[in-house]
Amino acid sequence: MKIRIDYFSDTNFAPSKAMREYMMAAEVGNEAANEDPTVNRLIDMVCAMLNKPAGIFLPTGTMSNAIAYKTHVRNTGDYIILDETSHPLIVQSGLIAGLVHATALPIKGINGIFRKSQIEELVARPAVRNIPKVRLVSIEQTTNFGGGAIWPLADIQEIYALCKQHNVLMHLDGARLFNACIASQISVAEYSKYFDSVFVDFSKGLGAPVGSILLGSKKFIERAWYYKFQFGGAMHQSGFLAAGCIYALENNIINLAEDHKKANYLAKNLSNLRNIAINPDLYQTNIVYFSLSNSEISPKKFLASLLQKGIRMVNIGNKIRAITHYGISYSDIDQTLAVINKILSS
Ligand SMILES: *Cc1c(COP(=O)(O)O)cnc(C)c1O
Repeated sequence: MKIRIDYFSDTNFAPSKAMREYMMAAEVGNEAANEDPTVNRLIDMVCAMLNKPAGIFLPTGTMSNAIAYKTHVRNTGDYIILDETSHPLIVQSGLIAGLVHATALPIKGINGIFRKSQIEELVARPAVRNIPKVRLVSIEQTTNFGGGAIWPLADIQEIYALCKQHNVLMHLDGARLFNACIASQISVAEYSKYFDSVFVDFSKGLGAPVGSILLGSKKFIERAWYYKFQFGGAMHQSGFLAAGCIYALENNIINLAEDHKKANYLAKNLSNLRNIAINPDLYQTNIVYFSLSNSEISPKKFLASLLQKGIRMVNIGNKIRAITHYGISYSDIDQTLAVINKILSS
């Protein structure tokens, strides 16, 4: 069955014709020698937007997290604090242990968001011979497996003050940072201010095929270059890819507001269906989670029935996840609701 309506991920829609044409026309050079003019232009644009001194172009968000962690960590085994549902812990092939050689210290947050009080003791603990030091707190904005929730600025500020006091660094996984900004009306620069490193992704809702930028101080980025080479992320004529990211920045951020409205429309209408458990108020951005209540049907069977009609969602544990994006229209959502209604009442 061909997938017609794909809620699997906001990466799952093809670059527009205009983006492809813009990419093909890019001026390029040797990126690994800092000589690709389009990559350099993208880095300058993003540094200006986020008000950070330096940046580095990387193929994926996963590599951005890995290189940021690797660059920040001092001793093997150092602790990295992050929410227990964070993307690097769940779906990045164990990179904290496998590649960074650090120890993840998972915190049980709510919707991917933890509070200062939960980490205060850990952050304040002095280094001792036989216990690793907490080196880094890593936060995800928005939270993927937390349902696209937005970290409140006040919580970030409190954690920042705590970390500063104890010389602990902060990293922002900004795979969907622009979604948070559009929804909260808080600027990317304001969110970024509290972090020693930030990455932003262009291949999620922004629709570029590849690309992210990791930002930080000049010294941090110089060290990040070492790991970019070590991890095989130093590229050559990658200006073609950077051009897709520039196109996305200039044209597609505005689409994210529409993605959020679509997710809200989906969530509100799902809440009116029988045998669906969802609190639509939880979903402020483009990620929706729901579960099947009082129903004989298992999540697996439900997803298979959807797929038979060309509609794809996924299950994360017992919950079903749907992500809206540019490639999904309101009429697609109406069709989806009708199909779900039929599956659940049969
Ligand atoms: C997708 C995602 C990543 C990884 O990005 P890739 O470009 O797919 O490697 C990291 N963090 C979060 C929160 C994500 O959703």
